[in-house]
Amino acid sequence: MEYIGFTYVSNFVSDRIEEVLFEAFNDVNKFFTETGLPLRLVYLDKLILEPGYLITLQTPEGKIRLFPLDVLIDFMDYRLKVEMDKNDGLVMNKIMGITSFPLASRDRYFGFYESFLGFQAERVGRKIMIISMRPFESDSMRMALKILDNPLADEELKLLARRVLSRELPIFKTRLVKGMLHEIGHAFGLEHCNNDCVMNPPKSVQEWDSRYLGYCTQCRAKLEKAFPEEKVNRDAPYFSLR
Ligand SMILES: [Zn+2]
Ligand SMILES: [Zn+2]
Repeated sequence: MEYIGFTYVSNFVSDRIEEVLFEAFNDVNKFFTETGLPLRLVYLDKLILEPGYLITLQTPEGKIRLFPLDVLIDFMDYRLKVEMDKNDGLVMNKIMGITSFPLASRDRYFGFYESFLGFQAERVGRKIMIISMRPFESDSMRMALKILDNPLADEELKLLARRVLSRELPIFKTRLVKGMLHEIGHAFGLEHCNNDCVMNPPKSVQEWDSRYLGYCTQCRAKLEKAFPEEKVNRDAPYFSLR
């Protein structure tokens, strides 16, 4: 079995979104279990970054306060190294982190579609994957969360916000799960494909919603090669049954 460390930057993340992150974590593991791949995420606690690392960027979406990608990569790489130094027999040289802010380095802002499906960095023998959840959020979801965070919002408005969230959060979660599978695919050597597959990057969120939750036959075959033959269950379906 191969393990991937999982973490998220908890700055700016509400309790409701935290819950969704853990559901996405579970869904990814369920996907690998059901589809017979010897791969699991392991939760390595959340990352809390000091406000001192925040930078302000002028972006096409307006001024944004965020933690630069370079800082995130360093922190996650350090977290992974600590885990690997434990030498507890777990095969783990990859880490995935989810952030709520857009992906940007000090000198480069990753545009909407570029940031869509995350970023990968490689450090001698270690892989760091970062996904921003921001492009997966709908405007109505963002607004509903803001209403629920506002102690002055009236009850009727809050009820409406809860209703919006019960519709929007499952959609948001599925987008994120597909994004996670996409980055994991890259981490194991997959490239983009043109099929109905998580490795086919979308041009819009709508397109992403219509994608099948899983790897196509070609990508699956390539992915299997990353693992010892006897560890892969070839009788399992390629796509999650849900
Ligand atoms: Zn990609
Ligand atoms: Zn594919």
